[in-house]
Amino acid sequence: MTQVQSGVIAYVYTSNIRHKERKQRIEFVNTIAVNAPVGAHKPPEESLDSRAKAVAAIAARHAAEVDAQSRFPQEAFEAAKTQRLLGVLVPGALGGEGASIARVADVCFRLGQACASTGMIYAMHQVKVACLVRHRHDSASIDGVLRRLCAEQLLLASSTTEGQAGGNVRSSEAAAVYENDRVTLERQATCISYGAAADGIVTTARRSADAPGSDQVLIAFLKEDYTLTQIQTWDTLGMRGTCSIGYVLRGNAPKGQVMPEPYESIHRRTMVPFAHILWGSVWAGVATAAVAKAQAFVRAAARKSGGQMPPGATQLGKAMYTLRTLRATLRDAMRRYESVMDDTKVLDSIDFQSQITLVKVEASELAVAAVLAALRVCGLSGYRSDTEFSLERHVRDILSSPLMINNDRILSSFTSTAMMAPIAGVLSE
Ligand SMILES: Cc1cc2nc3c(=O)[nH]c(=O)nc-3n(C[C@H](O)[C@H](O)[C@H](O)COP(=O)(O)OP(=O)(O)OC[C@H]3O[C@@H](n4cnc5c(N)ncnc54)[C@H](O)[C@@H]3O)c2cc1C
Repeated sequence: MTQVQSGVIAYVYTSNIRHKERKQRIEFVNTIAVNAPVGAHKPPEESLDSRAKAVAAIAARHAAEVDAQSRFPQEAFEAAKTQRLLGVLVPGALGGEGASIARVADVCFRLGQACASTGMIYAMHQVKVACLVRHRHDSASIDGVLRRLCAEQLLLASSTTEGQAGGNVRSSEAAAVYENDRVTLERQATCISYGAAADGIVTTARRSADAPGSDQVLIAFLKEDYTLTQIQTWDTLGMRGTCSIGYVLRGNAPKGQVMPEPYESIHRRTMVPFAHILWGSVWAGVATAAVAKAQAFVRAAARKSGGQMPPGATQLGKAMYTLRTLRATLRDAMRRYESVMDDTKVLDSIDFQSQITLVKVEASELAVAAVLAALRVCGLSGYRSDTEFSLERHVRDILSSPLMINNDRILSSFTSTAMMAPIAGVLSE
């Protein structure tokens, strides 16, 4: 890619009331999801967090098995569909909820704490939805795809990696071929997460056979529009539940499913900002879960030994401030993006592009540092796979973050921009 007292009796009372209200709200949402005509219910944004919590609880229950078997987190996504989490970014007029990126980032953060793969799959899906929503202009076909997505709670996968080109997202080899009112494409899609489980794939392609690799379009294929032939497996250190298998993707869809705007601007204005903020939110979730385990470990160890701290406890402070820095980095990027997301001039500026590009590098490095600090706190109990304080899965999962579009690729492509980017002279801005 070139680019955070009153009396005990009173506390217990209010806690019970809140619990009851929460339970009723979840039951209410479930009832609607099951009984309402498809697309008729648009749940309020306020309920998004409780719906995300319900899905996260299921994801957490199956996380170890998903990882061990390197399988798609089926149960979590069945729950996400029941809770209608897949279309939340889509405007209300098309059957969605018009949720903000910040609310979706909170869902990614919650899911990431429960199961890194579930969180990352949800994030990747929402990045693609954002591209369709924000760049569809007046395309009736893309409106149709989004309506179906909300009504049927379709899960969209992403194909940008092609052949041996790795994370060079801004170049495509396979070209779109137009015949009458159809577009066809055959691409060596060497990495499509949850490709087999998805209901659609949104892919980059060269605009036409005579266009340069950088002249790209984005095409939305739904399940009936493509076939996948497996060419590569996914047996990895972490993020095993993403099932990011390689395929030959053969697509054939109505021409209207080619996005009306060139991919170049979709990439700068939506793909990169949404990907970096939402991926970062998942990684922050993984780091939060690890730091919470480290804190619990220190408390338990101190209780057992009459208040004496375990040797790694000094690392807890480091883990906490790293996590705080990570959260601040993401919050800052999110606020900035939300404040300019409809201003193409600002979005295309060197200043904005530098910030949003570096957020991925910064967030991934901080997330790895926080998880490794948590591991130092827990010591052998964290290193082992068979203790309640095991951080084995968190370590394996988070190590994918600097590689998911290699940070060094991003930094090397940033060098010329860094030479031109303005350096702020005032601290408060
Ligand atoms: C958890 C996870 C999920 C992902 N999901 C998706 C997805 O859904 N869709 C998608 O499109 N991509 C996905 N990716 C892939 C991702 O987008 C990048 O393509 C990938 O991380 C490689 O990035 P990179 O090229 O910057 O890094 P690297 O892997 O460090 O570099 C790859 C480069 O190394 C060279 N290279 C690699 N292998 C060879 C070889 N055998 N022979 C010669 N040269 C070689 C090539 O020059 C290539 O450009 C996922 C990655 C991860 C970690």
